[in-house]
Amino acid sequence: MTTYKICLLPGDGIGPEIIAEGVKVLDAVGAKHGVGFEYEEALIGGIAIDETGTALPEQTLDVAKAADAVLLAAVGGYKWDTTDPTKPRPEQGLLGIRKGLGLYTNLRPVQIFGALSQASTLKPEVIDGVDMMIVRELTGGLYFGARERFYDEAGAGVDGACGQRAYDTLEYREYEIERIARQAFEIARKRRGKVSSVDKANVLETSRLWREIVHAVHDADYADVELEDILVDNCAMQLINRPADFDVVVTENMFGDILSDEAAQITGSLGMLASASLGDATALYEPSHGSAPDIAGKGVANPLAQILSVEMMLRYSFDMSQAADDVRRAITHVLDEGWRTGDIADACTAPERKVGTAMMGDLVVRSL
Ligand code: NAD
Repeated sequence: MTTYKICLLPGDGIGPEIIAEGVKVLDAVGAKHGVGFEYEEALIGGIAIDETGTALPEQTLDVAKAADAVLLAAVGGYKWDTTDPTKPRPEQGLLGIRKGLGLYTNLRPVQIFGALSQASTLKPEVIDGVDMMIVRELTGGLYFGARERFYDEAGAGVDGACGQRAYDTLEYREYEIERIARQAFEIARKRRGKVSSVDKANVLETSRLWREIVHAVHDADYADVELEDILVDNCAMQLINRPADFDVVVTENMFGDILSDEAAQITGSLGMLASASLGDATALYEPSHGSAPDIAGKGVANPLAQILSVEMMLRYSFDMSQAADDVRRAITHVLDEGWRTGDIADACTAPERKVGTAMMGDLVVRSL
């Protein structure tokens, strides 16, 4: 029997509660599909700061690197909120592990569960059939380029004025664009076969390079995939206007950061959104939401985003697409039956169908 090693990073707040449900579902999938999952838990975020003084202990990175995949819940909380730059912060754990594992692709699926379509602020006919994957480059561009802030003395500024000046640098290398383009085309082949490449090629030199490389990769190896170029400002409008037309959207770091949050809002349900970060080795899977300290420890958090991150793990790390489809079908079934955690319940939810974290996990397992 194949056995996969999973590094579990529960983190803070609702993290331990929701990750337990992810494990429950993985175990059920393993039993059904004849695969074993072994778990090793490690510290990250606020709890790691409390126990070791740093948000990402070296041992955690070692455990993550040795695993076949990493399942993360969330980090952060009031206790560790600080503006003191000398104090460690939980988010340093997230940035550190992404860097440590060389994760350069972030995948954010945006799908509508029919039973929750009323949660969107868009009209039902606009969101009908929405099923897209945002593929964001994660380690290049403006967030990692050289930056500086300085003070121009009188007469030193471009126009002779004095005052503060700052710059950030947007830089991309050919190999960075090529590898993310390949990821996007590969994913499109497993979906509806269409890639929308987002840039600002009418203004930015990096975008012109982006467009050239994406087309070169496409023409050489992925001519069977449909490719369209779309300017980022137009894309921001079309995501709201005709979201169901998008399949795979690939873009650079900052455009992807903004567009993936915009696209996430199409669903209207934060507790339902998962994400995957991929590199060339171990990948990391997590919900898109935070550690929800306001409801931590109450057993009411929605575990479905965490369970959907398990679905992505099965699909992208273990090539178990049938098992991944099973998980998605099980969630759809549970929602269609009217079961809801507090965050996705509404006036139509029958009181006896309002459930807590563990019960929602049990229902998904039963449905599997
Ligand atoms: P949040 O996503 O934690 O919570 C926003 C709101 O959504 C809260 O009302 C919360 O109760 C609710 N919510 C979130 N997930 C839920 C779930 N699964 N079920 C039910 N309700 C849910 O965002 P925030 O309040 O801005 O941040 C809280 C902490 O989380 C902060 O310390 C922040 O830095 C951290 N954070 C971590 C990550 C991460 O680990 N990837 C991401 C975002 C924020």
